Amino acid sequence: MAGLHDWLSSRAEELDQSALLADAVLPALAGADLFRIGVPQSNGGAGGDVRDAVVAIAAVAQQSVTAAFVFWGQRTFIEYLLQGSNPALLERSLPSLMAGSLAGATGLSNAMKFLSGIEQLQIAATPEGTRWRLNGGLAWVTNLRKSGFLAAAAVAPTDGAPAAIIAFDGHASGVSRGDDLDLVALRGSNTASVQLAQVEVGAADVIANDATTWLPIVRPAFLGMQCGLSIGLARASLEQAASISAGSRNQLSPHIQALQQMLEARVATLLAGVHDGRFRSQAAALFRLRIELAELVQQALMLELQAMGGRAYLQKEQGGFARRWRESAFIPVVTPSLVQLQAALQQHESRAA
Ligand SMILES: Cc1cc2nc3c(=O)[nH]c(=O)nc-3n(C[C@H](O)[C@H](O)[C@H](O)COP(=O)(O)OP(=O)(O)OC[C@H]3O[C@@H](n4cnc5c(N)ncnc54)[C@H](O)[C@@H]3O)c2cc1C
Repeated sequence: MAGLHDWLSSRAEELDQSALLADAVLPALAGADLFRIGVPQSNGGAGGDVRDAVVAIAAVAQQSVTAAFVFWGQRTFIEYLLQGSNPALLERSLPSLMAGSLAGATGLSNAMKFLSGIEQLQIAATPEGTRWRLNGGLAWVTNLRKSGFLAAAAVAPTDGAPAAIIAFDGHASGVSRGDDLDLVALRGSNTASVQLAQVEVGAADVIANDATTWLPIVRPAFLGMQCGLSIGLARASLEQAASISAGSRNQLSPHIQALQQMLEARVATLLAGVHDGRFRSQAAALFRLRIELAELVQQALMLELQAMGGRAYLQKEQGGFARRWRESAFIPVVTPSLVQLQAALQQHESRAA
């Protein structure tokens, strides 16, 4: 981990602003054995559970949200296989996913929006005997390594069967990865669109047969690990704000400490809920935590800016502030976005009333 820590701290700016190191991220994370965290030992993992993965993603996000989001994509894909209904697919892919020699990408934003009733599924599955032909595309997928990937997507069968979650191979005939998206931040994340034209899949590629029942089951892990991004970024910003403010005249230290305590209390609630399974039935509580953590990121960044004052505007003195500011713009928009969650909570409250 010390080697990874040094690698990330010296390359965080480059990972954010250029795609040159994009293909080095996965091997760097795998080199610290991060993808085994929270995977049962019986599957070749390090043991522990999703809480450990949340904590590990947060630790990486403290240094680089680009690397942490790649970590999230890979580890969330692994979680899909662990919680899916296809042991052969798990057995076939897990060793290389944990070793980082195979990239796992999660294209399930579309599915999560579909589950909330705000978007149609973007991939149609036409039955052909016992198999399907897939046509459609996903506008945003991270961890699409140019050398190859497995990606998870929800597909809508054209015969009216339930939507399913499948894994498709980047090398399969009919799969085309777009160019890297021209992002303002997180440029080293291998983020691109992907199109599918007559891509053949079968039972061996199905992760879950019924997306609508499976997605709420996997959502606590999906969202919990995603919250790791907010936790790490907020911690980094508050740490920086605290060290600048210690012994200074700015009088921000009590505010910084209060925010740090609030953050750690939210983290404890998140980890407990991810562990005891309550978020499967109480999605609203998880949605509120995701919103609160995103708001804490904004407040933390504001305190870092205020502690730093004008130096935050000086290229040579801003100490990573500008990158964190850009990285923080990702937090409210990644699915489920804050707008989407607030709308879902409003619906939940009006149903309860
Ligand atoms: C750097 C980057 C990497 C990404 N990587 C991935 C990835 O690996 N996998 C993946 O699946 N996705 C990924 N995404 C996509 C991301 O998760 C979001 O889905 C996407 O940014 C939001 O979609 P949109 O901009 O098309 O929002 P739109 O659908 O255009 O919506 C705009 C806003 O309105 C909200 N909204 C829309 N309709 C409603 C409604 N009916 N009710 C309430 N709110 C609504 C949306 O949630 C959003 O906040 C990535 C995005 C970025 C920027």
